[in-house]
Amino acid sequence: MVRRCSHAVDIAVYLLGGLPDAEVEAFARHLDGCPACRVEIEELAPVARLLIASRSRLGGP
Ligand SMILES: [Zn+2]
Repeated sequence: MVRRCSHAVDIAVYLLGGLPDAEVEAFARHLDGCPACRVEIEELAPVARLLIASRSRLGGP
């Protein structure tokens, strides 16, 4: 069982493209040293792709 990281919320924002450039850099550095977040990203990436695809079909911004 992988321990949850305090950056877990940032992962969703990052995957949905909502993280500002400056924070993307810091987050990428954090990922290098945080296996828990890397596992989380691999698990959430397919979900994020679905959300982004459905958002465009719904005619959102
Ligand atoms: Zn982390």
